[in-house]
Amino acid sequence: MKETICTIPINDIFNEVGGCPICRMRDLIEKQYVEYITGAAMMAPNIRVITNEKGFCHHHYEMMLSSGPKLSNALLMQTRLQFIQDKMMPKGSAKPSKAQLDNIKNARSSCYVCDRIEFDINHLLRTFFVQFAEDPNFRELLKKQEYICLNHYELLHRGAVAKGGIKSKDMKAFCEITNALCRNYLDTLYGDVTHFTTMFDYRNAGGDWKNSKDSVERSVKFLTSKDVEEIK
Ligand SMILES: [Zn+2]
Ligand SMILES: [Zn+2]
Repeated sequence: MKETICTIPINDIFNEVGGCPICRMRDLIEKQYVEYITGAAMMAPNIRVITNEKGFCHHHYEMMLSSGPKLSNALLMQTRLQFIQDKMMPKGSAKPSKAQLDNIKNARSSCYVCDRIEFDINHLLRTFFVQFAEDPNFRELLKKQEYICLNHYELLHRGAVAKGGIKSKDMKAFCEITNALCRNYLDTLYGDVTHFTTMFDYRNAGGDWKNSKDSVERSVKFLTSKDVEEIK
């Protein structure tokens, strides 16, 4: 893939506290790409070739439609539809080929922004591992995080054992910190959700909900890395 447009200093992300730091990283990258794609990238033919081919997922179309200029969205859509006309749709009574059906399947799941996020997060994780090895202060910032969500726990640990990951002498410390960040929050959620369920017992009517009222929504975020829209 081409070089990143992402300009996020990793320390800025870890200086903040609240939620999962890798989710915050993802959100920043996502916002930059959504703005880029309906802005500067409109004039970049090489990017348009890729976005015509990959398109976007539902979530990212929604973000683009809510923040991008109407004409940019229409122009992006026009050439994306044209790509689908040319590559996937048979004409007249022709039977769709296996390749065309495979292309349709890919078209439904591919997303330029999702791919860029994945690429850039992996790129930033290289810096994360270097910081972890070299900067004791960075470890302290990591320890102070609220939690690491389940998806990003997996991502960090897959990265940690890959090339350029965590050095073997640091592995124990890395596991101790990241296990605590994921496990402690998981235990807290379990406690909160359990408390929430007991509040439906008539014997607890009028009792204290404690920190349980949004525990199911917080659990969804922990399990999926995505916020739940406010439930009315
Ligand atoms: Zn996360
Ligand atoms: Zn996407």
